[in-house]
This record gives sequence, C-alpha cells and structure tokens, in this order.
Amino acid sequence: MKTFPMFLKTEGRRIVVVGGGEQAAQKVRLALKTSAEILVVSDAPDAEIADLARQGRIVLHTDGLHETAFENAVLAFVATDDGAIRAAAHALAQRCGVLVNVVDAPDLCDAFTPSIVDRDPVVVAIGTEGTAPVLARGLKATLETMLEPRLGDLAALAGRLRGEAARLDPRRRRDLWRWVFNGAPRALHAAGREREAAALVKDAIANDRLPEDRDHPATGFVSLVGAGPGSRDLITLRGAQRLQEADVIFYDRLVDPDLLELARRDAERIYVGKTPGTAAWPQERINALMVRTARAGRRVVRLKCGDPGIFGRGAEEAASLDEAGINWEIVPGVTAASAAAAATSGFLTERGEADTLVIATGQLRAGDGDPNWASYLLPGTTLALYMAVGAAAKVRANLLAAGVEPDLDVRIVSRAASPAERVVITPLDALADTIEREGVENPAIILIRRPKRELPARVRVEIRPDLSRDLRLVAAV
Ligand code: SAH
Repeated sequence: MKTFPMFLKTEGRRIVVVGGGEQAAQKVRLALKTSAEILVVSDAPDAEIADLARQGRIVLHTDGLHETAFENAVLAFVATDDGAIRAAAHALAQRCGVLVNVVDAPDLCDAFTPSIVDRDPVVVAIGTEGTAPVLARGLKATLETMLEPRLGDLAALAGRLRGEAARLDPRRRRDLWRWVFNGAPRALHAAGREREAAALVKDAIANDRLPEDRDHPATGFVSLVGAGPGSRDLITLRGAQRLQEADVIFYDRLVDPDLLELARRDAERIYVGKTPGTAAWPQERINALMVRTARAGRRVVRLKCGDPGIFGRGAEEAASLDEAGINWEIVPGVTAASAAAAATSGFLTERGEADTLVIATGQLRAGDGDPNWASYLLPGTTLALYMAVGAAAKVRANLLAAGVEPDLDVRIVSRAASPAERVVITPLDALADTIEREGVENPAIILIRRPKRELPARVRVEIRPDLSRDLRLVAAV
C-alpha cells in the first residue's frame, strides 16, 4: 500500500477548507458529518457556504489565509482553481504540520479522501489510491445496498451496552455480539422494530442468556467450509463469514493461504494437510482433534479446498462429529471441475451435446481396484477426473480398450483459478505421454468430453407408422 488507512479523530479539532466554490462546498459537506469545527477561507463564498456561515455551522474567514487558520487543525482541504492560492495554501498547511489534501492535485496531497458508506458510527471507507474511482463508486453502491440504513443505530446501541456486557465471560460476550449483529436483534432492528430489538439485547445481557442458545450450543459447532479452487475471491460469502466467526480453523494443503486473512486475527489456524505419501495428519487424527476442539465450546471451521462434499472425506469427519454429538453444517464451495472448465472457457454441460456430467476420481481407496472409467463415459457425457494425473496411462488404456475414440479431445487443467493456472490439450491417445512431456503438475483436473455421435446408417432404425407392418420392418433393416 502506498497509503495507510486510518480514521482521524475530529472531536475538538478543526478542519480547514480553502476555497469558496462547489468543490469547496463538497468538502464542507463531508466535514459537516464530523464533530470538527469547520473553518472556510474564501473571499468569494458561494451561496451555500455563506448560508452555512450565517447559520453558525461553519466559521468563514474572508480576509485572506493566515497561519492562525491552521491552529489546532487536523486536516486541510485546498479546493480552488487559483494555482497561486493552491501552492501558497499547501505550503502554509504543511509548514503548520497539518495533513493537506489539494483537490485534483494528487502530487500535493498528504492524504486522500475515500469513498464513504456512512452508517455513523459504522463507516466504511473505500480507497483505490487514485487508480480506479469508478470501481470505488461501484463498491460503495454495493455496500449501500448490503447495509441497512439504520445499522448505525444498532451499533450505537451496542456501544452504549458494552460496559454492562463487559461483566460476561469473554466467550459468552462474543456469542452475544454475534447474535446481536447476525440474529434476531439485527433482523428486528432492520425491520423498524427498534425498541423490541433493544429490549431483547438488554434482557440477554441482564440474564446472561441468549434466546437462541440452541443455535450456539456450549459444545461448539463445526462448519465444513468449501474454500473454492484456490483463489481468495472464489470462496462464498457464507464461507467468508464463517471464517470471520471461527475460533479455530483447520485447513488443507490446497487451500490458498491468502484466505486465512479473512479470519479474526486471534483465531487459531491449524494446518492439517495430507501431503501425499506422508502420514503426518492421518484422517483419524484430524477427526479426533476436531471433536476435542469443538467439545471445548469453540467454533471450528474445517476449511477444505473446492467443495467439501467432493473427494474431501467430509463424510468421515461428519460421522465422527455425529458420534460425539457435535452439531455441524456444510458450506458449499466452487469445485475444481467448475474452475477447470472456466479456465478452458468451456462448459461442463451443454444442451444436446453433453447432457451428463460425471465427477470421478483417478484413484480409489487402496484395495478397491481401479475404476472402470469407460463405463461413465457414454456419448453425450463430460467426465471430470480428480486426482487422475498419476493414473493417466491407466485411464487411457481403459477408455481405448472400451472403444472410446482415440482422437477425443482431452483437457488437463492444473492449478485452476490460481496465477499458475495451466491448460494442456491433447487427443486421448496421447494423454499419458503429453502429461509426462509437458510436466503437468498436481493439482489438476482431466476433462474428457465424449460427443453424441450418430449411429452408422446401417443400424439406424426408423419407425415409419405410415407404412404397413411388414413394410415397416423392411424399412427398419
Ligand atoms: N474438494 C475438492 C477436491 C479435493 S480432491 C474440490 O471440490 O475441488 C483433490 C483434487 O482436486 C486434486 O488432486 C485435483 O484433482 C483437484 N483440484 C483441487 N484444486 C484444484 C485446482 N485448483 N486445479 C485443478 N485441480 C484441482
């Protein structure tokens, strides 16, 4: 970052605006949102600024800019087209040690004003270091729709009750605020039933009891969260929220470490990656640790790459949680096959062409033998093979032996949706050789599409109801 985001205290301080036109008025409006004293320096204030001065909401100096204007100032805006005034105001503000922002002159700025979503005291500031104001406006628009207009009032209420809630046990307190902002109080408040929401929260604090306690059992809770295929922006909003709420996160080898930045700073992060061929984290050990952590009343996220329901051994983890009586949920994710198809600008299904999608693996449990891949790959099917790079020679032999066309188009996508994403295209016949020659790395998905082919003419059967029964048979042959 070339700038550092901070919120400046304005209570008892001054904000100076040099200039009296529309640009200056814009900055005055912004400054009026704060508790600062506002001093405008202009010998030609426009009607709005003059009126604000008459109302006593700002102080107006019309007799030029002097050093005294910057006394006790936290921030100065210079908003005038006059180049000489700009330079002088900038130099004076800097000499007085005041942060200065010169409108439309990034080189003369100590600080930039962000796009703001204002739900005072909740304020979201969006900055792009001047690179993409249009993007910032778009983000602001999105956030404006996400945050209900009265959210600030709920936050202010929470602020007033903080002292009283401080006597609760810290974990209970976290549960309380989680419930306030994600549960019934927020919903009631947003629906305009503010008094009811406040009563509910006060009651919960006074009795140290959440009405929705059954959703926050003392035994903890485990979310099996899909992290997506490997880029931070492909996790779902729900997944990101669970990460923010987690006390402990168990994460996999293929999970993008960037994602962990979404978690609370004090959340514990435990790597339980199963590097192929090593036994550091056998499944039983992961299951046992997860049960123990949840039993201690902590909120656990089990972060798995892709979708937790696809080749993630989620069922085994869920079974041990069930056995221990711990509640759990699945938060779905974008699976690798989806990202792989996207990387090829292709579609996993296509009406009339590939009406069936089969998700399969290159390797089964030891002792289960090899899958019969050809049995999945009927005409009109896309076959997405996970964990199949090492089994490529077997896959090829199996398919060819079953009469699958050797010139079939096969796409191998490694590290889909990451900066190292790579697509290799090969005919089925050369699958294993290509993987070897190109040095295709794991993790990779092999996508095989077998188009619908018309049957050869001599076996095509046409039913001709317009012909007599005997002739119909002849037509069929
Ligand atoms: N639950 C995961 C799959 C886990 S099995 C999902 O839904 O995607 C691990 C296999 O997933 C890897 O061997 C590889 O075949 C595939 N895989 C995971 N991430 C991948 C990625 N970014 N690109 C390509 N394949 C990936």
